[in-house]
Amino acid sequence: MLSTMQDVPLLISRILTHGSVIHGTSQVITWTGEGEPERRSYAEIGARAAQLAHALREDLGVDGDERVATLMWNNSEHVEAYFAIPSMGAVLHTLNLRLPPEQLAWIVNHAADRVIIANGSLLPLLAPLLPHLKPVEHVVVAGPGDRSLLAGASVQVHEYEELIAGKPTTYDWPALDERAAAAMCYTSGTTGDPKGVVYSHRSIYLHSMQVNMAQSMGLTDEDLSLVVVPQFHVNAWGLPHATFMTGVNMLMPDRFLQPGPLAEMIETQKPSHAAAVPTIWQGLLAELSARPRDVSSLAQVTIGGSACPPALMQAFDKLGMRVCHAWGMTETSPLGTIARPPAHVEAGSDEEFAYRLTQGRFPASVEARLTGPGGERLPWDGESAGELEVRGPWIAGAYYGGQGAEPIRPDDKFSEDGWLKTGDVGTISPDGFLTLTDRAKDVIKSGGEWISSVELENALMAHPDVAEAAVVAVPDEKWGERPLATVVLKEGATTDFAALRSFLADEGGIAKWQLPERWTIIESVPKTSVGKFDKKVLRRQYAEGALD
Ligand code: ADP
Repeated sequence: MLSTMQDVPLLISRILTHGSVIHGTSQVITWTGEGEPERRSYAEIGARAAQLAHALREDLGVDGDERVATLMWNNSEHVEAYFAIPSMGAVLHTLNLRLPPEQLAWIVNHAADRVIIANGSLLPLLAPLLPHLKPVEHVVVAGPGDRSLLAGASVQVHEYEELIAGKPTTYDWPALDERAAAAMCYTSGTTGDPKGVVYSHRSIYLHSMQVNMAQSMGLTDEDLSLVVVPQFHVNAWGLPHATFMTGVNMLMPDRFLQPGPLAEMIETQKPSHAAAVPTIWQGLLAELSARPRDVSSLAQVTIGGSACPPALMQAFDKLGMRVCHAWGMTETSPLGTIARPPAHVEAGSDEEFAYRLTQGRFPASVEARLTGPGGERLPWDGESAGELEVRGPWIAGAYYGGQGAEPIRPDDKFSEDGWLKTGDVGTISPDGFLTLTDRAKDVIKSGGEWISSVELENALMAHPDVAEAAVVAVPDEKWGERPLATVVLKEGATTDFAALRSFLADEGGIAKWQLPERWTIIESVPKTSVGKFDKKVLRRQYAEGALD
């Protein structure tokens, strides 16, 4: 028997309409680098999103499920694009502006983007690429920047404000299929070509509700969220959609992502929440120790994208900022787990800290299982380590195959029964907390045993002289692989490798056989396009010539 419930599709246009009417006075505040930041209410964003949809439809001829790309920082125009494009039935394609140009070109061509909305400040990146972007016919430019860079380009160039001016401030949003494509993001393609993950209206809607739950980010319209995680990095972890559901205000840093401006933003605008990868927060910590500021408004900081080092969590605790650790991937929308300790655990205890350091607990909609090397299912005993596989309504079941082509399901990414193979190795406790020990490709396989690169890095970064540390596997005749520790020292540091080794053993509790014999000092750890340690580059650059 079927239910007697109404079958109303879960659409992004509903989130937009709800946010711009019910939470019409909530604001997106965009940092401009000088003077007062720009403020736009959710009501204004709703009206301008309608105007943008009219312009895309009537002036640029965007129709059906065409892809419309954005090459933008986090700002209010990008939020408008976030809602206008999927609500009208087209597909929002956020471009990662830090990818190497040839990868960006590959992605634009693969997605067949005909329109790109770009920030003026990114034209130096876009202009030389345009001759390689075959499907692109229109570039819409928003915000400051030198338009003359596009002179002579074989595309039609439009001014964002001129394009939307005078257009109706409401739009008759179509009744779409909730399973239709709403947005897409390409993974960074560390191996092979980048892969397109396509989110549906339904997946984004359900994911937004999860982000808003008290046991996830749990923000309300009294909050101001500093969205440092780029809008091109897995939909800014779902924040723009989630905030329009609840009226949470957003503080957008635009292109001012350096520690100095971020510290100033926090001190002057007083956000209560912020979200970014660990490297951003490490930069902020260094800034705050050099130039202290009042950052006490930040009651909650969501950290994900790579493991949060314990030393970082402790340092933030001391400053009154409570870190909430989360795990996810482009393929998981991204919220997969979030580390809120269970209620029975005493606040401030070591047990609580240990829970907070895990990657977190799975929500109801994310099913998880661990698979051992022989394909066997491993128990949730907090000890058996295997590859994490997940499934759920906001987890990818395939990658975009290209226009008119079937979706692709590589064997190394999807199990035969359709679960996503995450490539992450870890354990799950009986109460459902995930602890990742490594990415499968970063684990150091030494004499038949596994050494966790993350554990060594976390232990090293707890040393007062160490600013950053990344550990990679290097080939070893006897053991197959051994760890190489690459270390960035703080200014004025006096430590040496022998002392660091002893520190790992004595303070870090690292077993003797896991201690690195090879060490190298580096200027800074190379970062990926979304600010994570780039171990691929490290392996290439430093594995040879390491000190024994
Ligand atoms: P990329 O592969 O380019 O880094 P993603 O953002 O999709 O792009 O990365 C997802 C991966 O990031 C996960 O598979 C995992 O390895 C890592 N990751 C994300 N969050 C965490 C976390 N909290 N702890 C450890 N690793 C994490």
